[in-house]
Amino acid sequence: MSSSSDRPETPAEARVDLAAIRHNVRLLAGHAPGAEMMVAVKADGYGHGLVPVARAALEGGATRLGTAFVREALALREAGIDAPVLSWIITPGEPLEEAARQGVELSAGTPELVDEIAAAARRAGRPAGLHLEIDTGMSRGGCPIEDWPRLVDHALAARATGAVEITGLWSHFACADIPGHPSVQVQLAVFDEALSVADKAGVPSDAVRHLANSAATVTLPQARYDMVRCGIAVYGLSPVPELGGFGLRPAMTLAARLAQVKRVPAGSGVSYGHLYVTERETRLGLVPLGYADGVLRHATGRVEVLAGGRRRPIAGRVCMDQFVIDLGDDRAEAGDEVILFGPGDDGEPTCQEWADSLGTLTHEIVTRIGSRVPRVHTDGR
Ligand SMILES: *Cc1c(COP(=O)(O)O)cnc(C)c1O
Repeated sequence: MSSSSDRPETPAEARVDLAAIRHNVRLLAGHAPGAEMMVAVKADGYGHGLVPVARAALEGGATRLGTAFVREALALREAGIDAPVLSWIITPGEPLEEAARQGVELSAGTPELVDEIAAAARRAGRPAGLHLEIDTGMSRGGCPIEDWPRLVDHALAARATGAVEITGLWSHFACADIPGHPSVQVQLAVFDEALSVADKAGVPSDAVRHLANSAATVTLPQARYDMVRCGIAVYGLSPVPELGGFGLRPAMTLAARLAQVKRVPAGSGVSYGHLYVTERETRLGLVPLGYADGVLRHATGRVEVLAGGRRRPIAGRVCMDQFVIDLGDDRAEAGDEVILFGPGDDGEPTCQEWADSLGTLTHEIVTRIGSRVPRVHTDGR
């Protein structure tokens, strides 16, 4: 695929198909009938571009957006997106007054944070929407079940002053992506217990109960409650790779154009450390993406790219800004396109293949693509 003429040619770009995002949101909503869908757009929309992804998700049927940090939620507001948004990692001293003023909902797992949010909401002159987080067994954020009744009472007292509304009750799975993991049933049971405590204490019944991430959305009907929170699957990447792709469509294609092509003799050592030595006379292509752009140094010798219709391995060390591929006898030239990964339609590797080869998750591959790489949004591929 060649670049369209209405934008400058860049050495590399991450193309993001917004039609795929909408498709994935619709598909996931089909897995959670009767539940609302929050799309996680943290970390610049998993590296896909915060604002375009958020808009596409809402067009696809998401009713809410989720971010890790308040700053990310405020960026959505700045872009004119007024859909409900929740931020779930709040560190003391953050711009909570601005969050309250902008109607950003905030998660809290401690009485101290409830107090800080309530104080900020009073200054803002607008009640803050509060989602109370229960630690049902991940031991990450949230309130341990032993302390939960006290947190609920504390939040209800803040609510009675008019400073906050309790708009959500939630938790997060540790192992939903491991089919059959015993912790899943334990977390479900603890969640139900926490909901019952909140209910009896007088938390309004319209507070949104939510637990499921992408993996739980597609594998655990009993975890859907009032809302599911989907991230990775929205971007078309499987939340449980061992169970397949679930009909999701990868949204991102990472592409570059060869900066240089040259012929070298047999026995040429390639890139730092000469880890790769040409076996015969061949052509080498220079790909202008490196570990500063998220092509992990660890990818050296492990992953392939599509060049001239063929898979070619990375030859030698990935450098900060570039790596080399061995093109054999291909008649490639500078400016030719190389696909690092994409949906796989044209034989290019998928992000899942990269993740498998690198011993990581697709989440890490897409979120590590650096800010030097422009995100180019398309509607259909
Ligand atoms: C990132 C995140 C999600 C989305 O997780 P996926 O596995 O990408 O679907 C949901 N909830 C919380 C709290 C998160 O941090």
